[in-house]
Amino acid sequence: MTTHIDTDCVIVGGGPAGLMMALLLLRQGLEVTVAEKHADFLRDFRGDTIHPSTQDLLAELGLLDEFLARPHDDMPRVRLSWQGTELTLADFTRLPTRRKVMTFMPQWDFLDLLADTAAQHPGFRLLRSTRIDGLIRESTRITGVTGSGPDGDVTIRARLVVDASGRDSDIRAAAGLTPTGSAAAMDVLWFRLTRRDGEVYPFIQAGDGMIITIDRGDFFQIAHVIPAGTWTGSDADVVKMRERIARISPRMADAVATVTADDVHLLRVRLERLCRWYAEGMLCIGDSAHAMSPAGGVGINLAIQDAVAAARILGPVLRARPPRAKDLRRVQRRRTWPVRLTQFVQRRLQGPLIASRAPGASLPFPLRMLRDHPRLTYLTGRFVGLGARPESID
Ligand SMILES: Cc1cc2nc3c(=O)[nH]c(=O)nc-3n(C[C@H](O)[C@H](O)[C@H](O)COP(=O)(O)OP(=O)(O)OC[C@H]3O[C@@H](n4cnc5c(N)ncnc54)[C@H](O)[C@@H]3O)c2cc1C
Repeated sequence: MTTHIDTDCVIVGGGPAGLMMALLLLRQGLEVTVAEKHADFLRDFRGDTIHPSTQDLLAELGLLDEFLARPHDDMPRVRLSWQGTELTLADFTRLPTRRKVMTFMPQWDFLDLLADTAAQHPGFRLLRSTRIDGLIRESTRITGVTGSGPDGDVTIRARLVVDASGRDSDIRAAAGLTPTGSAAAMDVLWFRLTRRDGEVYPFIQAGDGMIITIDRGDFFQIAHVIPAGTWTGSDADVVKMRERIARISPRMADAVATVTADDVHLLRVRLERLCRWYAEGMLCIGDSAHAMSPAGGVGINLAIQDAVAAARILGPVLRARPPRAKDLRRVQRRRTWPVRLTQFVQRRLQGPLIASRAPGASLPFPLRMLRDHPRLTYLTGRFVGLGARPESID
């Protein structure tokens, strides 16, 4: 059986970009269908950072109190422990935002909040467990998508298709959009460590590679940054990983001794972007338009800023008519340079993130600058906390 849906906008992907764009278009009285290939938003291996500027957007939407009612942790400064030397990487306490903290919230809680709020609008449809794999065209224009869900095939026709399906988008290529860029210099190993009573670790530990520790209550989510292409998942790799982690964080050595190759997920970091973010009838936003490195933890913020700009520019057009290429180009023009600048900085950060230094070696130059000139941490706080071009909803 094939389900046929007609809507104003179909969004492929219920990640931060897709759900935020859906919510903002719904508030403008439009009908929106989001197709998400997973049954729920439960994903361990994702960033959990909600930046001060995103929290300002939530306040604009009247959602800040509800957001803060969900489990979260606030971080006013990003601190790093480099071979035992403690320093601040980014300070948010002087930002011109309502909340001067970066907030950690499991991504599923954040996405649930957006989806629950969107569901209060009558024009919203969220198709879970629905994978989109084809485009519908009329002449040169993309007019919808096809896919399959729990009840069979799905055909969704819309005035606008938004591809917010992340860095491995299945439909971008079918629209003739191919990202360019390079594999990043680093990969990330993700795994869980059981938490023992009272155990705490610094958020970032570095010195011979890097460990980021996200406290999830009864376990720690660990992200271990390694040089790209050095992980094959062999037993020898696991031994090397344990030894490296023990050098960076001697206190973690016991806990990591039980981690096996099966517990470790490899995430290949990519730094790419599309030359053109749109085709006639379709726009890419978020990681689908520009895959971000985890450096600085800014990918969610940028994806949401794309969604805000796209909904502000295209919402009024969509109410009147199908957007034309020049309308979609306006979104790309607004969002391209913040993305380029952020990717440039992420590229420059890769060296210090994966640097392997002998015990007692001096701090890498950028970290020395931050240690010796603490005022610079307000600038890094601004770049991370606000992004290069913050957006507002109206
Ligand atoms: C290792 C790693 C760590 C990171 N850490 C951070 C961090 O700490 N903070 C931060 O801000 N950013 C971080 N990022 C980046 C961040 O995760 C992304 O930039 C952000 O999630 C992009 O949001 P998005 O909505 O564009 O795409 P995504 O979050 O990738 O969402 C895409 C959605 O589309 C769905 N989908 C995909 N294909 C289909 C299909 N064919 N049909 C239907 N649905 C589909 C997916 O299931 C997914 O839900 C990290 C990235 C990596 C690789």
